[in-house]
Parts: sequence; structure tokens; C-alpha cells
Amino acid sequence: MESLTGRGQPPTPTPAWTARLAARRWLTPGTFEIALERPAAFRFTPGQRIRLGLGGATRDYSLLGPADHPRLHLCIRRLAGGPVSTFLAEAPPETTLHFDGPLGYFVWRPSPRPAVWLATGTGVAPFVALARAGVRGFRLAHGVRAVDELYYAEELRAAAALYVPCLTTAAGAPPDAFRGRVTEWAVASLAPGIYDFYLCGRGEMIRDATRIIDAGFAGSRVFSEIFF
Ligand SMILES: Cc1cc2nc3c(=O)[nH]c(=O)nc-3n(C[C@H](O)[C@H](O)[C@H](O)COP(=O)(O)OP(=O)(O)OC[C@H]3O[C@@H](n4cnc5c(N)ncnc54)[C@H](O)[C@@H]3O)c2cc1C
Repeated sequence: MESLTGRGQPPTPTPAWTARLAARRWLTPGTFEIALERPAAFRFTPGQRIRLGLGGATRDYSLLGPADHPRLHLCIRRLAGGPVSTFLAEAPPETTLHFDGPLGYFVWRPSPRPAVWLATGTGVAPFVALARAGVRGFRLAHGVRAVDELYYAEELRAAAALYVPCLTTAAGAPPDAFRGRVTEWAVASLAPGIYDFYLCGRGEMIRDATRIIDAGFAGSRVFSEIFF
């Protein structure tokens, strides 16, 4: 990131870090959490991400937190044919990984406005980091395709003022689930008002949510992180 005082000079290179893969835990057949041994000097603000480098490719992953843990935790969906997520799903313990960071501005910005968090899939990861950092009082709608993709549900439910799983199918849905997309939940359930919206996940959801906010919640602030 170029500093304000550094205008006109080349940007300062982001430091490159090296870490060992310490552990992997499967959350569902398609999604896993990995832990990296944290480089002693590495610090991040909850909600930020790292950029993993692999054979010339780079991919970003949000840090789950807690921010003071000796390991760095990531929640990753394995994508068929996806080179980096597949490598991370299969790499043996002790594999050396390289990353840049911390990156991003999707961090908690306290305000008197109620916070509404909308996530799809693994886009819930930065919200886990915020909850682990002690943020409370938020309303979180998490949209997934199947009930087992409600990652960290109990932890988030305990921290939230309102936690709403959003599923388009009824199969196995918890009693507090909303039948539909997170954007449909926002339209159906949020009282008119001014909010701080935090949006993370699919670009399509963020685009749709932004339109809904513009049309129905004018004056709200919107912070977003697009995964793909
Ligand atoms: C800011 C940012 C933060 C991110 N944080 C995370 C994270 O915490 N966890 C995570 O799993 N991914 C995250 N991603 C996505 C991640 O960087 C990779 O794109 C993903 O792991 C796929 O990489 P790949 O090389 O395996 O497959 P690629 O060949 O790069 O991707 C194949 C296709 O899969 C789709 N895709 C990408 N990511 C996802 C996803 N998470 N779920 C469903 N479909 C997807 C896209 O359409 C993509 O074109 C983030 C992306 C960004 C930009």
C-alpha cells in the first residue's frame, strides 16, 4: 500500500511471509480449515486476509482469527479443478507456504448504526474473525446451499443478536432458517432504517444487496469483500 507521504514513489513491497502447514480439519466433504504456524512478527486486524502464492498463482484467503492465536486459520472450499484450493486440500503437514499480507479493509468500524452482516458460503470467514475479536450485537444472515455448509454456526449464533441461516431448500434446515437468499431475507425482515451493512462472498450477492440497500435503506454504509 502506498503511504500518503510516499506519493510519487514506488509503493512499498508487501512483506512476504513463510509458514508451515500445521493442521487440516474437514468441516464438510468439500470445505476444510487449515492452520499455519504463524510467523512471530505477523499481525493482522480481524477481517483482513492473506494472499497465498503457489507456482506463480496467487489466491486470497480471509483469516478466521483469533488475531492473537499462535496459528493462522483459514476456511477454504475445495473447488473441482481449482489448482490452489486443491493443493491446500491435499498438501501434507509441514508443507511450506508463502504469503503476503495482511491485506484489505474489511474490518470492524464501530458506529451507532445497527450492523447487518450478509455472507455466502466461505464468505462467513471474516465475520468469524470479527466475532472472535469480541464484536457483538450484529445481525448475520448466512446463505448456503446445504445445511452442513453453515460453518461456525453455533459460535456465530452465540455471538450474534440475530443469526439467520438462509437456505433455498428445506432439507435439514434448522428451525430458525430462512427459506431463500440472504438478499431476500434482508428485504423480508429488515425494518426500514439506516444500517451498517457488511457484505462478503459471491459478487452476485454483493451486487444484488447493494441495489437493495440503495433502494430501501438509503443513508446506510456498505462495506464489502468479493470472493469471486
Ligand atoms: C478477497 C478474497 C478473499 C477470499 N477468501 C476466501 C476464503 O476465505 N475461503 C475460500 O475458500 N476462498 C476465498 N477466496 C477465493 C480464493 O481466493 C480462490 O479464488 C479459491 O480458493 C479458488 O482458487 P483455485 O485456484 O482453487 O480455483 P480457481 O481456478 O481460481 O477458481 C475456480 C472458480 O471457482 C469459483 N470460486 C472461487 N472461490 C470460490 C469459493 N470460495 N466458493 C465457491 N466458488 C468459488 C470462481 O468462479 C472461480 O472462477 C477469496 C477471494 C478473494 C478475492
